[in-house]
Amino acid sequence: MISNHNAVEHNTVELTIDGHSLRVPDGTTIWDAARMAGIAIPALCHDPGLDPVGVCRMCVVDVGERVLAASCVRECSDGMSVTTDSPTLESHRRQLTSLLLTEHPSPCQQQQQTGDCALEQLASQFDLLQSTRSVSDTLRPRDQSSAVISVDHQACILCDRCIRACNDIQSNDVIGRTGKGVTARIAFDLDQPMGQSRCVSCGECAAACPTGALVGQTLTLPVLEPDQMTGVDTICPYCGVGCAITAWTHKKTIVEVQGRQSPVNHGRLCVKGRYGWDYTLHADRLKTPLIRRESAYPKGPLSAEVADSLPGKTRKPGGLVDLDTVLPAFREATWDEALELIGHKLTSIRDAHTGNALAGFGSAKGSNEEAYLFQRFIRAGLGTNNVDHCTRLCHASSVAALMETIGSGAVTNVFADVARADVALICGSNTTVNHPVAATFIKQAAKAGTELIVVDVRQNEIADFATHFARIRPGTDVAFYNALLHVLCRDGLIDRDYIDSRTEGFEQLQSLVTNDYSPAQASAICGVAVEQIEAIAATIGRATPPGGGGSMIVFWGMGVSQHTTGTDNARCLISLCLATGNIGRPGTGLHPLRGQNNVQGASDAGLIPMVFPDYQPVSDDKIRRKFSTAWGCELDPTPGLTVVEIMKGALQGSIRGLYIMGENPFSSDPNANTVRQALSNLEFLAVQDIFLTETAEFADVILPASSYFEKTGTYTNTDRRVQLGRPVLEPPHEARQDWEILCQVSRQVGLESDYQSVSDVFDEFTSLTHNYQGLSHKLLGSTGRLWPCPNPQTDDGTQILFEDRFPTPTGRGRFVPCSYQPADELPDDQFPLVLNTGRVLEHWHTGTMTRRSKALDAIQPKAFVAIHPDDLLKYGLVDGQWVRITSRRGAIELEARSDLRLQPGSIFITFHFREAAANTLTNDALDPYGKIPEYKICAVSVCAADS
Ligand code: SF4
Ligand code: SF4
Repeated sequence: MISNHNAVEHNTVELTIDGHSLRVPDGTTIWDAARMAGIAIPALCHDPGLDPVGVCRMCVVDVGERVLAASCVRECSDGMSVTTDSPTLESHRRQLTSLLLTEHPSPCQQQQQTGDCALEQLASQFDLLQSTRSVSDTLRPRDQSSAVISVDHQACILCDRCIRACNDIQSNDVIGRTGKGVTARIAFDLDQPMGQSRCVSCGECAAACPTGALVGQTLTLPVLEPDQMTGVDTICPYCGVGCAITAWTHKKTIVEVQGRQSPVNHGRLCVKGRYGWDYTLHADRLKTPLIRRESAYPKGPLSAEVADSLPGKTRKPGGLVDLDTVLPAFREATWDEALELIGHKLTSIRDAHTGNALAGFGSAKGSNEEAYLFQRFIRAGLGTNNVDHCTRLCHASSVAALMETIGSGAVTNVFADVARADVALICGSNTTVNHPVAATFIKQAAKAGTELIVVDVRQNEIADFATHFARIRPGTDVAFYNALLHVLCRDGLIDRDYIDSRTEGFEQLQSLVTNDYSPAQASAICGVAVEQIEAIAATIGRATPPGGGGSMIVFWGMGVSQHTTGTDNARCLISLCLATGNIGRPGTGLHPLRGQNNVQGASDAGLIPMVFPDYQPVSDDKIRRKFSTAWGCELDPTPGLTVVEIMKGALQGSIRGLYIMGENPFSSDPNANTVRQALSNLEFLAVQDIFLTETAEFADVILPASSYFEKTGTYTNTDRRVQLGRPVLEPPHEARQDWEILCQVSRQVGLESDYQSVSDVFDEFTSLTHNYQGLSHKLLGSTGRLWPCPNPQTDDGTQILFEDRFPTPTGRGRFVPCSYQPADELPDDQFPLVLNTGRVLEHWHTGTMTRRSKALDAIQPKAFVAIHPDDLLKYGLVDGQWVRITSRRGAIELEARSDLRLQPGSIFITFHFREAAANTLTNDALDPYGKIPEYKICAVSVCAADS
């Protein structure tokens, strides 16, 4: 972790260890010093990643004192003489091992499977025969209640490593101790079974356990000894945090995934990264190209299976596409046949109606190389800029505001720099759910003294760590942030030097917030008490002492961006940072937390209708000439349509053909019933994916693609870190690499695409950009580089952007004042509640991967609507009841769950479950700048399903 605040100058001390002389920084423990000298001291309770506690006494050494010293906690001192190995020490360690073995299970499951039970290894070293159990199982019963971790209290040596892993590293605070003497054991919450506790199944405790007390449940094959498995260093396929992992395989099957040390995650993972990989091995994988049968035309109305999954028809969990029902509409085809049909159909539409009758949806789950090839295929092959992807649905408004104000859409600092911040402002982000490992860094910073301000409509778990939690009314962000700016300006808590030297337009902002957004005026809109607005502004002000010097970092999520006022919301947060001088220094910055694993990279690579790779406008003649030369064709100067506009075009008939790679708009786009109509209205739809998704049901041709674990490619995380993903498995049967498929379809429409490898594609992409210049697959190594990286041979890249100037025409950041505008659809008598949509920890987007992952599906198998208990009472409902939620666009039925974290008048539904698809209800009204839909607010009603 980046150390808090300023680095400390270390003095050094000199000592001898087993006769070796060495000099180490003051404060170094004997255990660490010995390790530096190449001397291994045995330990059970100690792990270099955890704070030492010295409870097991296995690591004791002789420092010439009356008693032996625990080397993991004892610091070195000048002139110290340490002995790590002697008959006395050996006898002590042997006796300790022998005592611990009396309660150790025989056989030890971990030792049998992986050979790495630390206690058994010591027993072997000391030639100790294992004794039989002396403690009854009933005192230390097994606990199999968790879907991911098996608990054997009998194997526990009470070293507390799991407690420190859970509490200090992940800050989940689930594990403690209970009992005394022989009944002493670890306990989850108030001694509940692990599966019924607040445990979030991150697996950090099991990773830290040195014996077989906490071991991962088998997902495919049992974990084996390392020499029986192959380990591949790659990256987690899920969220924008981009955690580094090692995937272990045996017999063409992934057996286990471990967190890997990297600047991003420091070896930590969440439940999806550690246990959510088996989707790649699922029997539902697409294995051959499919072509719709003649008899399956016309496509509409909806198939019986789809109709059956619609609201009110099923109460079964696990509502994935039923292949038995859907597959008969398709026949297997050869690759040549499928590719030729795609080429023929797309070129026919292009030649008859121009390229603008076509469009493509790329994927933020794909690599940078795939995104680059995809937008090249659409632009240069099909002749249109109608190419977009799901960034439109998550942070398009944030990017619009950032480009407009500071000239760059990327984060200005990495999330881990929260450790150096005096204040962290978290807005509209359910961080522990959506960016779980980033949240561990934020929680650690809060524990270390960073003041956390959380602003949200829901009191999410991250708010439990906050100094201030402001619960705003849905859609009133602008009023709240303008009020903070009002107080900061009024009380002189702004950085005047920064404003004068680095920004423009402050006076207009000051005039607006001073006149219209006093705390009292804003409180009437946002519902936050005047005193709380004052207190929060004062806290921010303390991080903005006159002349600057304090630090505040701002994180935001889709609670800010997914509104018709999303761009305004982000403009306000940018203004807060500009006014307080909080961009361009350690512990400061703007960080819109990116959702998908490669949403930053897919945008960087040009999957955006207005810009070529690296945000170079398609309308700029000089830039367009550069890409025309590179791709050998003329290019359209008109910016293309965005995701929702493309769907509306399909509905109206102006978009006739669509190519979708790895996206599932049937479930992910707002107002799903119109999306379904739009998809069935298309003249031609090609889908390239790993599963037959709800969207693919409408396809004319389906191409089987490779999963994340089957390919090479680069991915850019939320920090701008470009990392190399490596293949772990082969694609199944006839499935092909996505980059090869894209080259093949490009050739079918007449675009030369003769790349020899993925790294060739990356090299072409980087050569056409500024920010990726100099990067190559070879240079990225195991931990990647942050872009921009002016000296990639020697440097990690640029952590903090805009230290001196912004990449705007004037070099200054721009204030854009915004007035409060209400949401597009507000509650009324008919639809009195506000619907908020989002995710749960265990699932990802439309669930195509996570619902096919055994552990994730077991933990969270069904859809639910979270409702405040007051509203349950008000509408005559009870927790667990089956309810119907209705909006102006449709209705769904699902189970009600009482949830005190909501505010009365609001409900929350995830969008992972097709059998209760939240997007049946959502509003497709768009933010005028980012063209992002208002997923976070629409008006709904609730009633009992059988009423
Ligand atoms: S899995 Fe994670 S949250 Fe659960 S007890 Fe272990 S460390 Fe804590
Ligand atoms: S935090 Fe994100 S990247 Fe890390 S393990 Fe979890 S899902 Fe994967």
